[in-house]
Amino acid sequence: MQKLTFTFIVSLILTLGAAGQKISISLFNNLKLSTILITPTSGSYRLILGDNEVELKVNQILYISRSGDSLMVRDANQNMGTWKRVTVVGQTGEDIIRVKPIVPASPARLYDDNLSFYVDLDRIFAINLIDQEKYVAAVVEAEGGLNREPEFYKVQALIVRTYTFAHLNKHLAEGFNLCDEVHCQSYLGRSEKNSDILDAVLDTKDMVIVDAERNPITAAFHANCGGQTANSEDVWVKPLPYLVSVSDRYCLGSNSSTWERSIPIGEWKKFLSQNGVDTLKIKKNSDLDFQAKTRPKYYAVMGVEIPTTDIRKHFRLRSAWFSVSAGKSEVRLSGRGYGHGVGLCQDGAINMAQKGWTYDQIVQYYYKGVSIVKLTELDMDRIRVDTTLNNMVEPNLPPPGMEFPQRPPDRGTR
Ligand SMILES: [Zn+2]
Ligand SMILES: [Zn+2]
Repeated sequence: MQKLTFTFIVSLILTLGAAGQKISISLFNNLKLSTILITPTSGSYRLILGDNEVELKVNQILYISRSGDSLMVRDANQNMGTWKRVTVVGQTGEDIIRVKPIVPASPARLYDDNLSFYVDLDRIFAINLIDQEKYVAAVVEAEGGLNREPEFYKVQALIVRTYTFAHLNKHLAEGFNLCDEVHCQSYLGRSEKNSDILDAVLDTKDMVIVDAERNPITAAFHANCGGQTANSEDVWVKPLPYLVSVSDRYCLGSNSSTWERSIPIGEWKKFLSQNGVDTLKIKKNSDLDFQAKTRPKYYAVMGVEIPTTDIRKHFRLRSAWFSVSAGKSEVRLSGRGYGHGVGLCQDGAINMAQKGWTYDQIVQYYYKGVSIVKLTELDMDRIRVDTTLNNMVEPNLPPPGMEFPQRPPDRGTR
């Protein structure tokens, strides 16, 4: 049975991509889990321990602790033995289970569908085998925020599903598809705060965004472009035909569309001299001034061009689009937008949805020359997934504005 369960999981991983499949996500992936408490909250579960299969009742609690390379299992009354793998399988299709890390302690989260636990690398892995569409809804909730228009949720669902489909192999060497961290996609438990999200996911079921060659796109997105999105190559060196700069007046009214920042003039000059500017030649501070009416690739100062993305990274700026005005003691930056600026602008897309744009119009506006297709229409044998932009790391940004309390800091290429 042990082996069977494992084969079951492996075969799930290998048959992915087809419609309606389950995918495997490592939960609390950033924690070195050693004790976990699980409790079914609705539906009906079977607990599989070796050859034994027993019912796990709603509200029944189960402790799972690491013991060497195995798992010790006990409920409220008894020790249930030590096992290499512990699996709980939902029986109704509407099964929900709570997972609470005890050591190390972390807040409990609710998950749909099945769980499987094993020990590797001196920790417990908690794998959620979940219906792909339920997973997409959960990520849309974590990354798209609450109280949005249905058309915006559909756009976000397409982006999340496209990313999921294109990165099913990201953790395959470790035995699962994706982790629940920003490294893959932020997954904080099941979607349940807004039923519009699941509706939007089901309305776009199995649909992904592909480029002219019918390969899944790198669906980069960011919070606010400030009025003009960025070319992929200006931020990540590599050009992509669908990630090209477009002007965008739809995000200009949002809180994140402008920002201000003051930096001590000494710090600014130090950075400039480290980047090849002869600061001894500065006659007056206004020599440092710079106007950026459109999204600039470089800050041109004293005959030197410094990539604005380098400045953003160094000073952890909200965006790489800013004008510079130097005073006596500090440099004042007036910036536009929030995030790397490549691909879809979330604030713009939200406003378009409010103005009646449909999800496909919004997608076509930000990603040039793409199509929206069903997974079943794709030729799985010849699909190429471009992962070169996979591990680009965004600077740690200051906390996002209040308008996006749920959104994690800007993610890699997304
Ligand atoms: Zn990951
Ligand atoms: Zn925008």
